[in-house]
Amino acid sequence: MKQYNLASTRISCSLCQHKTFKNERGLRIHWQRTHQSKNTQNFASTNSRIFCVLCPRKSYKNQKGLNHHEAIVHSHYNTPQAELISQPSEAISEFRSILVYIIQTKLKTSAKEAGQQIITIPYLESQFVGVFNSFINRYSPSRRWYNCIFSGIGAYECLSQIFGDEKWGVREYKNKQQTWVILNRSEECLEHYNKRESLSQPKLEI
Ligand SMILES: [Zn+2]
Ligand SMILES: [Zn+2]
Ligand SMILES: [Zn+2]
Repeated sequence: MKQYNLASTRISCSLCQHKTFKNERGLRIHWQRTHQSKNTQNFASTNSRIFCVLCPRKSYKNQKGLNHHEAIVHSHYNTPQAELISQPSEAISEFRSILVYIIQTKLKTSAKEAGQQIITIPYLESQFVGVFNSFINRYSPSRRWYNCIFSGIGAYECLSQIFGDEKWGVREYKNKQQTWVILNRSEECLEHYNKRESLSQPKLEI
């Protein structure tokens, strides 16, 4: 009881209830030291935090934290950003042909050169979305990359549909030699940015 009386005559801080002060001056000093400086710090750190666009209440210290959150919570998120200006169909089919052309030029004649290929192509986000729209496995809003994975049975056909070209993965030479694209099944594809396509490329001679 004694203790209770004693405590009740003291002034307590509204933010940290366990802190009590003899008088208002004590409280004021505490407030200035603890809360005013803390508040400005808090303010600064909230400002520099990165927010998840998909769950606005979640914020992270740095990009790494947000990446982790995206990988766990939004690993199946695949809706491209809404503000994209859709490309006219001619522009999209032109981009398709460019993609096919570049893939084919990557097919080498010599068996020694067969192997995984990374293709880097400059393009507009809207072109990419125009071509791959319903085949996007994952879109990262914070880093703005897209992930399209084509693997397993039907992957080649799937890309034939996308490119509108059944021979997209075949390069024919005058001597009737052909080189083929073999699609990679590896999970590494997950880590590839939208600018790249991972293609294995063993060679087939006729
Ligand atoms: Zn306090
Ligand atoms: Zn989120
Ligand atoms: Zn993932």
